Amino acid sequence: MADYAAAARAITTADSLGLVSHLNPDPDTIGSAAALALAAQRAGKRVAAYCRDAVPANYRFIPGSGLFSTNPAVLEGVDVLVVVDCSEPGRIGPDGEAILSTAALVIDIDHHTDGVVFGKVRLVEPGAAASGVLIHELLNELGWSVDREIAEALYTAIETDTGSFHYPNTTPRCLRVTAELLERGCRPQKVAQALYESHRPERFRLLGLALNTLELALEGRLALIQVTRAMYDRTGASVEDTEDIVDYARGLAGVEVGAFLREEADGTVKLSLRSKGAVRVDELARRIGGGGHPCAAGAGFSGSLGEAREWVIANVAQALSEPAGADC
Ligand code: 5GP
Ligand code: MN
Repeated sequence: MADYAAAARAITTADSLGLVSHLNPDPDTIGSAAALALAAQRAGKRVAAYCRDAVPANYRFIPGSGLFSTNPAVLEGVDVLVVVDCSEPGRIGPDGEAILSTAALVIDIDHHTDGVVFGKVRLVEPGAAASGVLIHELLNELGWSVDREIAEALYTAIETDTGSFHYPNTTPRCLRVTAELLERGCRPQKVAQALYESHRPERFRLLGLALNTLELALEGRLALIQVTRAMYDRTGASVEDTEDIVDYARGLAGVEVGAFLREEADGTVKLSLRSKGAVRVDELARRIGGGGHPCAAGAGFSGSLGEAREWVIANVAQALSEPAGADC
């Protein structure tokens, strides 16, 4: 379901392009959409970009990320709407369907396995490592050149969605695209410094408190880490500083599933789940309206931290007792 020729035709004939990323944006949705936005600007098109949530401070180094607005009105009247990295319209935000229904032509660019396809034109490839890979191939189809800024935006998308090239989506195709980005001037060390070596001390103070909550369950096969609202007050850290804490839960020997539970301001819990392969965590997340990938998924949980913890333990226990798994 990847009609590059149709997507390139629609974009070539458009005077204006609207880019849409998913809420709680990650570097793939931002970097991929920003790369296409920059390339379209260089091709003389009028460009607007929308994300329901502001680009987190630690991702504002991504070239083109400054183009995003949190006001959907910027999309009004654009010829083509390109929705990037959204597995379903609801990932745009509560008004996702409304935004799509007013657009002249919608292109759905995504790589999630559990996606609901939408839009007239689709570049949907669950086998692709990141939406950034699909955007790179679309730029080739368009014949638009990739400069250093575009290359670094796409590299950031791919580097993060492959877990720094740790996950099984690190395929030959993914590495070939990455090699081309390096040939276009991308500096991996600059991206790595921006992503992993530019944190505020508050982030590490929060990490310290979070790691102290580490709990092992199910005979050491499940690890849980929590962040409460009180921890933000104690450390001065913010929600953005919780990114990647879940990796510590999966990082223990013997752990099959790592879970991160974050208490939200509205009394719900944001769940992040990571698997080493024994469990498909996207299937667990879908049970409560979430989604993601077999080895990395997330969901919102309506209930308290304690209830979320119980839910995770019960559902991971049940999944571990079944044979189905994933290649993580
Ligand atoms: P994270 O745990 O880092 O928030 O997300 C891991 C993966 O799950 C990402 O691919 C992300 O897009 C997806 N994901 C996280 N939360 C949700 C959710 O509430 N709904 C859906 N459909 N996917 C989610
Ligand atoms: Mn992605």
